[in-house]
Amino acid sequence: MSSEAIFGIIIASVIILSFVSKLLPKRRPKEKHFKCARCGAVSHHTERTIEAWRNNKTKFFCPACHAKWLQSKPPQFSRGRGSAGSGCLGIVVFFAFIPLAGYLLVRAYA
Ligand SMILES: [Zn+2]
Repeated sequence: MSSEAIFGIIIASVIILSFVSKLLPKRRPKEKHFKCARCGAVSHHTERTIEAWRNNKTKFFCPACHAKWLQSKPPQFSRGRGSAGSGCLGIVVFFAFIPLAGYLLVRAYA
């Protein structure tokens, strides 16, 4: 087996894994509701609170309190540090590029 074929198989498996991971259901909290840590109101989980839950956060805020919290924050904190933000985006772009590169390679060799 040529090294190109092995490389192609590796790329193909990366593509398959990325598709499989997208198809698999993401972890969600068992409860559909949460009690706001600020005002105590019971709210539906949103994508934002589910994402917080996945990050092992135990305190959730209702949309109204979250909006107030965003407004109370100094602007530089809500936008994040420029370098850290672009570094994170770079990783996302990199991982998005791998399947694309693999697809093009497989097409070139197929
Ligand atoms: Zn609240």
